[in-house]
Amino acid sequence: MGLFGGRKTVFVDSDILVVGGGMAGCGATYESRYWGRDLKVVCVEKANIERSGAVAQGLYAINCYMGMQWDENQPEDHVRYARNDLMGLVREDLGYDIARHVDSTVHKFEEWGLPIMKDPETGRYLREGKWQIMIHGESYKPIVAEAARKAASEIYNRIMVTHLLMDEAKLNRVAGAVGFNVRTGDFYVFRAKAVIVAAGGASHIFKPRAVGEGMGRTWYAPWSSASAYALPILAGAKMTQMENRIVLTRFKDGYGPVGAYFLHLKTYTENAYGDNYEPTWYENTKELVGDYIDRQPVPTCLRNHAFLEEVKAGRGPIRMVTKEAFQDPHKEQVGWENFLGMTIGQAVVWASQNIDPKHINPELTTSEPYVMGSHATCSGAWASGPSDYAPSDYQWGYNRMMTVEGLFGAGDTIGGTAHKFSSGSYTEGRIAGKAAVNYVNDMKNEKFQVSQKQYQDLKKTIFQPLENYQVGRNEIVAGTVSPSYILPLNGLQRLEQIMDEYVGGISAHYTTNEPLLTRGLELLGMLKEDLNHLAAEDLHQLQRAWELQHRFLSSESVTHHTMFRTETRWPGYYYRADHPKLNDTDWHCFTLSQYDRESGEWTMDKAPVYHIID
Ligand SMILES: Cc1cc2nc3c(=O)[nH]c(=O)nc-3n(C[C@H](O)[C@H](O)[C@H](O)COP(=O)(O)OP(=O)(O)OC[C@H]3O[C@@H](n4cnc5c(N)ncnc54)[C@H](O)[C@@H]3O)c2cc1C
Repeated sequence: MGLFGGRKTVFVDSDILVVGGGMAGCGATYESRYWGRDLKVVCVEKANIERSGAVAQGLYAINCYMGMQWDENQPEDHVRYARNDLMGLVREDLGYDIARHVDSTVHKFEEWGLPIMKDPETGRYLREGKWQIMIHGESYKPIVAEAARKAASEIYNRIMVTHLLMDEAKLNRVAGAVGFNVRTGDFYVFRAKAVIVAAGGASHIFKPRAVGEGMGRTWYAPWSSASAYALPILAGAKMTQMENRIVLTRFKDGYGPVGAYFLHLKTYTENAYGDNYEPTWYENTKELVGDYIDRQPVPTCLRNHAFLEEVKAGRGPIRMVTKEAFQDPHKEQVGWENFLGMTIGQAVVWASQNIDPKHINPELTTSEPYVMGSHATCSGAWASGPSDYAPSDYQWGYNRMMTVEGLFGAGDTIGGTAHKFSSGSYTEGRIAGKAAVNYVNDMKNEKFQVSQKQYQDLKKTIFQPLENYQVGRNEIVAGTVSPSYILPLNGLQRLEQIMDEYVGGISAHYTTNEPLLTRGLELLGMLKEDLNHLAAEDLHQLQRAWELQHRFLSSESVTHHTMFRTETRWPGYYYRADHPKLNDTDWHCFTLSQYDRESGEWTMDKAPVYHIID
């Protein structure tokens, strides 16, 4: 069988195509069916929606719930909170839109069987913090997936989407997507009137702390491979805040979450000598960011900053003081359950390192940077806002539509809206789904056009790494090394090293400057040339090859954005050593980029930040 000629091509036509069946994708699928009873809604997922995405293993808390039924918080409060945490820069229209709908999403989850813990005295959901409610969430994802399965016309699992299709009848309009089945190798052509990208964020952009056999041990799921950004970027969509990578302070080596420990168990941190180190860095931080250090709660990046400075001053390791809290049997149980419900690996790491938190205060660490749109960070695509709330600069069509017509996004895909988390991402999926239905209905009988040439060319491109391997393996000089090709793992490690050393990863203490970024871009350019020679021994490696391509494009975007913003807006996430301070005069704005796939050039721009809420 020839590599291209004999391969089966499967055509799937639909009205709405959802790419990625994680939290946002399941929300988009569910809501598209609700508003579009007669429409064909298809969801395509590279794993299996039953256990895919960042919530695959389960969660112990839903981190975004207003509690409006009990007057606990209002949507405006959440916008203020997210704005403060992101050092002033969020899309308030998008954030408000999610906050006003998120409670109804959580109520649906409960209706579908998700056990939410209750406060025995008040009967309300048990709060872990101001925004978080506690759940027994091991089965969170299967519960959410079941609703999507029932809503979808068809779900396609095990298909990695590699490219979007563009309409040849109308400039700048999407017309579907292509990909391949990672088990059978069949080529899939999904033609659709509207596409919702909900493919999660990006790990393994920067070199991880754990390497070699431990390289999968990262905070963010290793399968989150930047498709959410690469797909829109390649289609010419504008991206925003891609420099705003996130660094997490977590338990060392297992990356177990610290939220429940701080908020519920009331544990606290100290340096190697038992001192509270955060006040030590108050003046230093004030010098860099001014009044932002006085805001409550202290922005996440600034808490990282104090941690990093203390470690650099030689007073690490930083530890979480658990010994006191764990004397209370209830708290001890909650502490362990917190991991068993969502990060079993942390419990295993502690067991393997002889750490019983009742007797030993465990170490914390800061992770390598990740690119995401739904956590304490807001990288992603630039999207149109809600018609009743967004300023005119933020409105050019349907809610959550990107700058490409018919292309929508939700969750980690959409930029400018931090602190959505699982419930907010699902909610944003619902918002995008409803808008996509309106878009499709408004299209009426208008037809899109996808030529055979367009998808046949993509087919050749997608399977080329298999061909490269077939040919190049004849020249293997030792082991798997051939002068004719580059393997996905080698390419990934090269990418991670460039990003780490030049764009502000762990080995550079999260620090970079213009000369480093310039050199980083040069090296990325050389890597790009070599990626034309990626080789895949089998379908598994073919998936790795395309994940690398997606990570690469997103990394280029991150680097251009980091170069463009000549200030240090989020110390603790990254530092521009040549512009060490926050500069509200010039940079109280969003950064925008657009990629030209013909020339390979990036165009950078600024967009205003509107403060809609006082
Ligand atoms: C470690 C960690 C802990 C978290 N803890 C909490 C918490 O305690 N509480 C909380 O509320 N939130 C938490 N969150 C946040 C929450 O998980 C995310 O906000 C949410 O999952 C984002 O939804 P999403 O749909 O954008 O991405 P995901 O849920 O990650 O879904 C993306 C989906 O796209 C699929 N996909 C990717 N690429 C492709 C492709 N090319 N083709 C087809 N499919 C593709 C993936 O397989 C995946 O199913 C946590 C996140 C992380 C990473």
